[in-house]
Amino acid sequence: MPCSPALNATLARLGWSEALAADIPTGLSPARVASVYAARVDVWTVEGPRLASLRSRALRDTEGGIAVGDWVTVGSAGGDEVVVEAVLPRRTVFLRQAAGERAEPQAIAANIDRVFVVTAADSDFNVRRMERYLVAIAAGGASAEIVLTKSDLAADLPALVAQLEALAGMETRVLVTSAKTGDGLPELVARMPEGITAAVVGSSGVGKSALVNRLLGREAQLVGEVRAYDGRGRHTTTKRELFELPGAGLLIDTPGMRELKPWLPDAPSMEGFEDIEALAGTCRYRDCTHDREPGCGVRLGVERGEVEPERMASWKKLVAEQAERAPRQATFAAHTQKRATRSLESTALRRKPRRD
Ligand code: GDP
Ligand code: ZN
Repeated sequence: MPCSPALNATLARLGWSEALAADIPTGLSPARVASVYAARVDVWTVEGPRLASLRSRALRDTEGGIAVGDWVTVGSAGGDEVVVEAVLPRRTVFLRQAAGERAEPQAIAANIDRVFVVTAADSDFNVRRMERYLVAIAAGGASAEIVLTKSDLAADLPALVAQLEALAGMETRVLVTSAKTGDGLPELVARMPEGITAAVVGSSGVGKSALVNRLLGREAQLVGEVRAYDGRGRHTTTKRELFELPGAGLLIDTPGMRELKPWLPDAPSMEGFEDIEALAGTCRYRDCTHDREPGCGVRLGVERGEVEPERMASWKKLVAEQAERAPRQATFAAHTQKRATRSLESTALRRKPRRD
């Protein structure tokens, strides 16, 4: 691939990192996916935005389908249109279980450094939901931060922050914002400097669009709109989802989700549930369901007051969902392995102390 300084500068602006310096075949060039539609994607190329069709082999090995943030190779398809030839290996990914009966992964965002889990300080506040997001983000190799927004609506903000901080432990930062008053926005922008790709995730209605608009300084996203979905849970609106923040990094907006079912690699250690997993290791029976079995370490932990019953219930639900998916997931084990190796670098980022 040609390496003129101008080209390199453009790629760097799009979030290209040396770790991605794959061999780009002659005649093709790298591009980044900005929006995903049913059969096409918007890509950012070094020559600007293009609409791209997809070569079917480009999708074959792409876990959960092509996603916003994916790096791809594109070739010309005549005129202004290009065709995606291949999806480059992902550094990180945010996967969930796709809507519908079949256990299938759906990639929501790819090659993200940091994921902001947005929750609202009004009646929608839900700590258990945050747990599920943190598990999914950690499994995909990105670092997670919690954004408590609509701070202007909170009756008792310090109490909510305390709950989130207790949940997040020392690893996950909690930021407090309001799209209405602008509270906390400079701090949020500071968490996504140039060169970083961040994503915002969360239930619909929590205030993601309002935040994105404030950060961009324009009405890029519709606020208070319910977006349309097709049967597979993909959104069908023709809106952009990858944004360049003025003077900062790239931001991916994601469609709101009702209930997130994380898609986890085999035998995961669930982020945020290490204490319960350690207790489960002390159960008398290896196949303990932590329900009625004698000698259950997890239930003992609850009885001793070390584990809140609600956290145990969340963990059990995640474990049960994981068991349902296990057969299907074996197919992807090899890819996951590859990704795990590649995400070592970003794991190092994640393990940095909280106040940097
Ligand atoms: P999204 O579905 O997560 O993108 O949520 P929206 O950004 O569309 O916001 C949902 C509703 O919450 C809208 O009516 C917004 O006007 C309102 N909202 C969003 N952010 C704030 C905030 O910081 N303060 C207040 N008071 N309302 C907000
Ligand atoms: Zn047990």
